Amino acid sequence: MIIDVVRLPDDGMRYEGDEDCSIFRSESDELVRFKGPVHYVLDVSLVGDELIITGKISMNAEFMCSRCSEYSPLYIEESAFLQSMELDLDTQSVDLTGDIREAMLLLFPAYPICSSECRGICPQCGVNFNKASCECKKPEDVRWNKLDDLAIEE
Ligand SMILES: [Zn+2]
Ligand SMILES: [Zn+2]
Repeated sequence: MIIDVVRLPDDGMRYEGDEDCSIFRSESDELVRFKGPVHYVLDVSLVGDELIITGKISMNAEFMCSRCSEYSPLYIEESAFLQSMELDLDTQSVDLTGDIREAMLLLFPAYPICSSECRGICPQCGVNFNKASCECKKPEDVRWNKLDDLAIEE
């Protein structure tokens, strides 16, 4: 999103539009799938030498659950975006694309889960416990067995 500072009206201007999700290219990996563009509605005004941008940025994505590895949709919204910057006399335009990307990245979950009820997958056979069960021995069982052995040795 480019703000044309030279043509900015005295009473400011509203910018509304979309940024393609390719702005995240360097950050994208298997953990997130982008579902459509990043939408912004931003009010831009010039107060003295200071450019002030406020508004809302939102997007839809799917994140891989850190427990079961299934993807689930997540709507991300920054409803109180605020950015201000001091302008030089010769500033013609300001590119806000990086700020829009940063605002969204800050809201990406560090450990996304598909649901607080998610039961994860079996570490041995990989079965999704939300959908099925398995016969593998749970790691907890092994630990308790070792404690039992110690007790017997005494
Ligand atoms: Zn899950
Ligand atoms: Zn298993």
